[in-house]
Amino acid sequence: MPIIQLVFLFFPFVSVFLSVRISNDMDILNHEKTAYFEETAFYNQSWLSRWEAPIKVQCFGNYTVEDKIQVMSMIEDVRNDLGTIPIQLVNDGGNLFIHFEDDLSHFNNSEEFKNQQIPFGYMKPQLNRNHELLQADIYIHPALKGIKKHEVLRHEFCHSLGLMSHSSRAYYTENLLGKIIFSNSSAYDDYKSNQHIPILDQEAIKMLYQSQISLKTSKKEFDRMNRNNFL
Ligand SMILES: [Zn+2]
Repeated sequence: MPIIQLVFLFFPFVSVFLSVRISNDMDILNHEKTAYFEETAFYNQSWLSRWEAPIKVQCFGNYTVEDKIQVMSMIEDVRNDLGTIPIQLVNDGGNLFIHFEDDLSHFNNSEEFKNQQIPFGYMKPQLNRNHELLQADIYIHPALKGIKKHEVLRHEFCHSLGLMSHSSRAYYTENLLGKIIFSNSSAYDDYKSNQHIPILDQEAIKMLYQSQISLKTSKKEFDRMNRNNFL
């Protein structure tokens, strides 16, 4: 059989198979991104918060070259998700502060975190009465090292952009604020080595910034409204 006919015979099969697979993945993502947004973006299920002014990221303390590369990479990951809000790394005059200081005073002074046994990070937001973010401080525990340190940093960075809550559901799509269903151990290894902000967090940030949804919207109201308006 001439080669040209072989190609012709195989091509329809390959293209049908590909389109089915892509549409399944897209269906899962479309369903999961709205559910994930609802779980992570509403504070106490009653309101939203986001930056309405340029975001200026500033690092403090004993950060390494790798830490700075991770910060720059996170900024690039979300740059196109933030709609009209610009984001940049600055040396002073910042409003989103990442603290890599060696002292534990921030952790020990906080009643909430005093008895925590394991090293961790946390994010402290300052909001105005309209729930717009005016300042955010991310604290990274000095005992955190390597991959774990940067995973904590990416997690807190998502909080600092307005994804204030956590997700309790398990998702097939990779994310930083909830649980993930891994199809096999190599998918888990891929996740561990991924230095980027995952797709589900990026989609939630996009929905928060690009939909222009009012910050006074409650989760209940969001459910009532036609969700398709925000997709
Ligand atoms: Zn958290």
